[in-house]
Amino acid sequence: MSPADLPAEPFYRADDAASAVLLRVRGLQKRFGNNLVLESVDLTVHRGQVLALIGPSGSGKTTILRCLNGLELPDGGTIEVLATVDADRAGAGTAEGRGANSAETVSIDFAAKTTPKQLAALRDRSAMVFQHYNLFPHKTVLQNVIEGPVVVQRRPVAEVTTEALALLDRVGLTAKRDSYPFELSGGQQQRVGIVRALALRPQLLLFDEPTSALDPELVGDVLRLIKELADEGWTMVIVTHELEFAREVAHEIAFVDGGNIVERGDPQQLLRHPRHERTRQFLHRLL
Ligand code: ADP
Repeated sequence: MSPADLPAEPFYRADDAASAVLLRVRGLQKRFGNNLVLESVDLTVHRGQVLALIGPSGSGKTTILRCLNGLELPDGGTIEVLATVDADRAGAGTAEGRGANSAETVSIDFAAKTTPKQLAALRDRSAMVFQHYNLFPHKTVLQNVIEGPVVVQRRPVAEVTTEALALLDRVGLTAKRDSYPFELSGGQQQRVGIVRALALRPQLLLFDEPTSALDPELVGDVLRLIKELADEGWTMVIVTHELEFAREVAHEIAFVDGGNIVERGDPQQLLRHPRHERTRQFLHRLL
């Protein structure tokens, strides 16, 4: 993608936020056996907004992302991904959301019986970037990127390949298109992980601690790429331990503890003047 193909302005504006809700989660609940991992999670994310989730290990952050992506089936609550108005202008690697499907709202009440069609629609709206990259080890870089769009979304191979190559070019990995994951550094693998997510033309990008498996000297490149995507107006939910990064990139930070969102707010306010004692204790340990 050349910069000319990308939208000039981020979509998110605090003042028009009310009219542009993309994701609405209410009372999300998830248990593993007897362990109530998400008690009742409420979230609203606007188009073009970046929300960072922070909180202690085991508090439920990854589970929230996995529920949003349909990788886990919640036990209760609702998830809505609202229609993207100008879906016709969508293309891979642009922040405007993906094609035809994004014109319809997905709305699922997990207290009721869910259908495979509803879950497939939910999965289709977001794409996840994993902590450990999760690339297919026996596929090349290019094969990794085109797999989802071709096999799951049933889009034409030629079109998907053209888009995939443009995305790889964007992140400086054209020369690695035929390499296998084990031949790449962690930072390169994670950039492939991000390209693979973009190739799915999601409305929502989900990042699960995208730099915590990387050697310190490789973290910067990946964070810069995520920041670029944020500046282009992609809607994102990012689980991270990098508080400085969260402060810089996120429009809002939510502190998760014990399966609930304890508080959320403007990054400066939340990091400097948390309202809740639990947030204060968590930040005190880290800062
Ligand atoms: P975080 O991302 O905040 O570290 P997680 O969402 O990974 O937290 O985990 C929250 C809790 O759910 C932890 O107690 C974890 O052990 C438990 N958990 C997560 N996934 C599973 C699973 N597949 N089976 C059983 N327990 C799980």
